[in-house]
Amino acid sequence: MPTSPVRVPCAFAPCQALGHGSVTLAASLVLLCACGRAPGGDAGGDAGGDAPATPQRIVLISLDTLRADRFTPERMPRTVARARHGRRFTRHYAATSTTQPTHAVVFTGLPPWENGVTRNGQRLAPERVTLAERLHQAGFETRAVVASYPLSPPFGFDQGFDHYEADFSRSREGSAVPGNAQGGPSFYSLAPAVTAKALAALDAMHAPRQFLFVHYFDAHEPYGDDGAGSISLAQIERVIREEGGEDVAALLTEILAGYDRDVATLDRCLDRLLARLEEDPLPTFVVVFADHGESLGEGGIIGHGKDLCAEQIRVPCFVLGPGVEPEQVETPVGSLDVHATVLACAGLPEVPGRGRDLRAELFPQPISGMRRTFIRPYTDLCLDGEERHLAGLRFYLVDGEDLFVGNAGAVEAMHGTPAERLALRAEDLRERFGRYAAELEGRDAREVDDRMTRSAMRALGYAR
Ligand SMILES: [Zn+2]
Repeated sequence: MPTSPVRVPCAFAPCQALGHGSVTLAASLVLLCACGRAPGGDAGGDAGGDAPATPQRIVLISLDTLRADRFTPERMPRTVARARHGRRFTRHYAATSTTQPTHAVVFTGLPPWENGVTRNGQRLAPERVTLAERLHQAGFETRAVVASYPLSPPFGFDQGFDHYEADFSRSREGSAVPGNAQGGPSFYSLAPAVTAKALAALDAMHAPRQFLFVHYFDAHEPYGDDGAGSISLAQIERVIREEGGEDVAALLTEILAGYDRDVATLDRCLDRLLARLEEDPLPTFVVVFADHGESLGEGGIIGHGKDLCAEQIRVPCFVLGPGVEPEQVETPVGSLDVHATVLACAGLPEVPGRGRDLRAELFPQPISGMRRTFIRPYTDLCLDGEERHLAGLRFYLVDGEDLFVGNAGAVEAMHGTPAERLALRAEDLRERFGRYAAELEGRDAREVDDRMTRSAMRALGYAR
């Protein structure tokens, strides 16, 4: 393996901390270390036998639906400025272009064809061991704040968390619901609410070792749902079907403006959370990733989940924390690496072949993934009114500059990969994709199919 876990001994953390507030950090760390094994934490488990728990915090942040090309100083100035204190990955590829399957990969360290979650609406099986379960077992206090229904407890993503906040405030049309507590159907929340809950979760955690997962949903459709009017996928479909597509160009302009407003809101709110983490004295690793991107008209497509184009799988990723030197990394990385990095930050053993520590030296390695699966053949509506037929499995492989997509039957080169490189590798690719399909056979995770879930999935554009 090219990497090894980077442990965080008390002695080195202060001087190599984030580069901010290191005096406060040093003082407080000495006090924390002096206490030895802290109350409430089981420092044993697989964290290192009888060694006292090193006080630390790990914060894993998921930015749903955020494209790589929006993670720029122009669009997200605050977050990009903070990311520059750590390692930024310009070529991070999401394992899938759908919310639940990518989160299942990040949580389990298993690709979709092994963990069985290949579309939204499936339940991550209880026997899967998640990051939160491993961290909890190692003595971490574990909390999560999630921003949309696909990550709510019925789908099993709450495994291993002491507290899992999944109360949402907004309805299917993007409007605010007057109080989830009053029973109104609500399926997602925006960044101001998520940030407030994340800050409250930090206030509430007192164990010496803490793990917080925060999920932001702002970049997901409805677009522009910050109070100035919003556009949902259902509205877009109505315009295309009922108005013959005449207003589609104007609508697309609104969609782009709405998406960018949502990204700006996310930037402002994320900055508040990252500022707080920087100020706190507890040595903190922050691992930020996106679960997939979004097509915004490229190729006549809006949305995500059905394709493996660059807009849908190439997404932002960065890591901050003690000892993480500022650097921009071009090596391709993926969702499995996010999993391995969180384990390594905690000093827990990595599983060979299940991702690399993004803080360590990275040797090139192929990155694989797939698009969502379909229960039955699916007809998708394009912006020009054409309908396209989607069925079967489709995988991708990134190797260096090359990106290949396909299955056991046919493979193609994408994102400008030369045809001669495809010709050289076609046989190997078909074999590899065929192997992934065979591994998935019989592993499909169970569907969650109650009325509330069907309603939520329709509201969020995942089902019709
Ligand atoms: Zn998502």
